[in-house]
Amino acid sequence: MSRILIIEDETSIAELERDYLELSDFEVELEEDGSRGLKRALEEEFDLMILDLMLPGMDGFEICRKFREMKNTPIIIISAKKEDIDKIRGLGLGADDYMTKPFSPSEMVARVKAHLARYERLIGSGSMENEVIEIRGLKIDKTARRVWVNGEEKNFTTKEFDLLTFLAQNPNHVYTKEELFSKIWDMESIGDIATVTVHIKKIREKIEFNTAKPQYIETIWGVGYRFKV
Ligand code: CA
Repeated sequence: MSRILIIEDETSIAELERDYLELSDFEVELEEDGSRGLKRALEEEFDLMILDLMLPGMDGFEICRKFREMKNTPIIIISAKKEDIDKIRGLGLGADDYMTKPFSPSEMVARVKAHLARYERLIGSGSMENEVIEIRGLKIDKTARRVWVNGEEKNFTTKEFDLLTFLAQNPNHVYTKEELFSKIWDMESIGDIATVTVHIKKIREKIEFNTAKPQYIETIWGVGYRFKV
């Protein structure tokens, strides 16, 4: 049974959302305070989060940003203001969907199901392949989204992990920055190909012994990058 976290401070809306989701056999947890909600979202296992923006404790923008640094669970934003949705899109905070109040609860349920199915396909397709990539001293666990360098675990942001994993899964293939940007960053992200350079630099600082002479991610001048094996 899929477990859903609703962070919403208007009790009537939270209960409406919960009731509709429970009718569709979802297990639902409610949280009305933003910082408590984020804490639970990070510490417990949920399959999807429904997030209000204006919340006591911590607003939905901040929750979305902080959560995305750690987890890829789908997020549906439900906001009272259309402008907030434009804002969250513009900030590229990584929400998967947006609805404005008042909304149709059955449409919300339909979207929840669609996002869960999409996410399961994503996870499923990953687990069909090798779950652990090991190249010299570098070990990447794709399922747990963890990385070790010579036995020492390193912390990666979501995009750093996605970029490293993508390159390591396609070794010796040269990718341009444009290709990497379009593969790793979704269309809603702001930023440009310079973002790729910044992320490569951060990844190298974590995995390379000498960032001036990278042994994993090689710069092909004037073209892009490739993962050496
Ligand atoms: Ca609110």
